[in-house]
Amino acid sequence: MKQPAPDIAPLLEVDNVTIRYETATQEVIAAEDVSFSVYPSDRFVLLGPSGCGKSTLLKSIGGYIAPSEGEIRLGGKRIREPGPDRVFVFQEFDQLLPWMTVSENLCFALSNGKRCSSQKEAREIAERYLQKVNLWKFRNAYPHTLSGGMKQRAAIARGLAMQPSILLMDEPFAALDALTRQQMQDELLALWEETKFTVIFVTHSIDEGIVLGSRILILTPHPGRVRAELNAHELDRSQAVAPLFANTRDRIYSMLFDTKLNAGAAS
Ligand code: ADP
Ligand code: MG
Repeated sequence: MKQPAPDIAPLLEVDNVTIRYETATQEVIAAEDVSFSVYPSDRFVLLGPSGCGKSTLLKSIGGYIAPSEGEIRLGGKRIREPGPDRVFVFQEFDQLLPWMTVSENLCFALSNGKRCSSQKEAREIAERYLQKVNLWKFRNAYPHTLSGGMKQRAAIARGLAMQPSILLMDEPFAALDALTRQQMQDELLALWEETKFTVIFVTHSIDEGIVLGSRILILTPHPGRVRAELNAHELDRSQAVAPLFANTRDRIYSMLFDTKLNAGAAS
């Protein structure tokens, strides 16, 4: 249950990673001895309570924070710095530049991110990705004229146009109302169905993790350690009232907050 077929090479390996912050007065262990592997087209969820080190781990994968111990490899190569092979997608409402059209937003990112050497090449790649995510009709629209879901789609298209190996999303829906949040989750899944990108998605919501994730890594409260890894391929919103969904939710909840009761339940 834990890993996909062993003949597929992992895209990303987090290998016994501990990350400490040194402040003026103390040392904070944000994540401790964390290991996991992400495979191509995984929707990999990092799930754990606030303060358990999810953002820290994601920043470390992004190359912004060096692990204190252990290492992180992408395609077998140790991550030492940020790079265009790992793209962060932030909250939908503040990520597109409002004074640029959808197409211009993509071209700007491509030129700025040094993915393209000429404007012509940037336009060609932008066109390809806008078609891929069904936004071609809206290429000349300004962000404020798009729905929240379409803005997110455009922002993800911009990320994908950079042709990263992996998209990194840190609680992008946390500030949204429940209905919008559900729409955004569905939109993200629809887009994934079309393009099968690899994503690491951070959340502290158990339901969001189950709905979005194909695999879920459960982290303990501070300092974050791996509690368990679950397969959630077969669970989506349509089964939200089914017993398996409720069982999974309960199981994750007790793993997060009652480690004694479930000691040894990690599978
Ligand atoms: P999460 O994203 O799971 O809420 P974080 O990765 O933001 O958790 O934080 C993990 C722990 O590290 C927390 O205890 C937090 O206070 C601490 N921490 C985060 N960033 C810093 C920092 N820049 N300096 C010192 N401590 C930090
Ligand atoms: Mg965080």
